[in-house]
Amino acid sequence: MLPSVAALAAGAVALLAWRARSLTGGGAAAGWLVGTLVLVGTGWSGGAVLAAFFVSSSVVGRLAPAQPSLDAKGERRDERQVGANGGAAAAGALLGLWQPGLGLWIVTGSLAAAAADTWASSIGARSRAAPRLRLLGPRVAPGTSGGMTPLGCAGALVGAVLVAATGAAAGSAPALLPMGTLVGFAGMFADSVLGSVLQGRFRCPVCGQASEWQVHRCGARTVPEGGLAWLDNDGVNLAATSLAAVVAGVAWLAWQR
Ligand SMILES: [Zn+2]
Repeated sequence: MLPSVAALAAGAVALLAWRARSLTGGGAAAGWLVGTLVLVGTGWSGGAVLAAFFVSSSVVGRLAPAQPSLDAKGERRDERQVGANGGAAAAGALLGLWQPGLGLWIVTGSLAAAAADTWASSIGARSRAAPRLRLLGPRVAPGTSGGMTPLGCAGALVGAVLVAATGAAAGSAPALLPMGTLVGFAGMFADSVLGSVLQGRFRCPVCGQASEWQVHRCGARTVPEGGLAWLDNDGVNLAATSLAAVVAGVAWLAWQR
């Protein structure tokens, strides 16, 4: 697609998302860039996949706010969250200028992982069963990084299937349905494992609560408790969506043989 047309279309959607308060100003700017690159590299097919991710994630985030999380950053996405979810897809989409199929596979796999993770968090927050670390490990408090519930996993599957099915339909490529579903679900699992092992864990000395942030919502500076202090949830998401992008690209290569 012509970059000018892509920038215009992506800009209109980013503006609407900002007006609808789905994105912060910085998030809308990042979304504009991601949308433009995806459209330039993969055309309307990739754009449809991006729309499926963005609309379904925004809807599920609002439909299932559940009990307000003790440690949330808010429902509006900022530029770091947009980059973590869509950055790998945007970079991979440019490979579509060289091999159109490859670009769409990467966009679909990577955004399916982003959708699976978003759906798992939103739907899983409604679970009555206590989350377990990596699904089968010890019980952990709701909201803990790496905590998983069967309900959250079902949500992840729905999110991955929605994005994968959109890629398969828009690209007339049926193989994208199983590929995107598998890569998306595995990406969510990788996200969860990486989060539980590597993500920085902190505790607020004032409230005594566990936190993911270096500054607690009460305003006090938290104390490191484990993991890599510099690696936050956005960093883990970026790692997982990048991994999904690579796996989807390798799957495309294997599919060509
Ligand atoms: Zn506190």
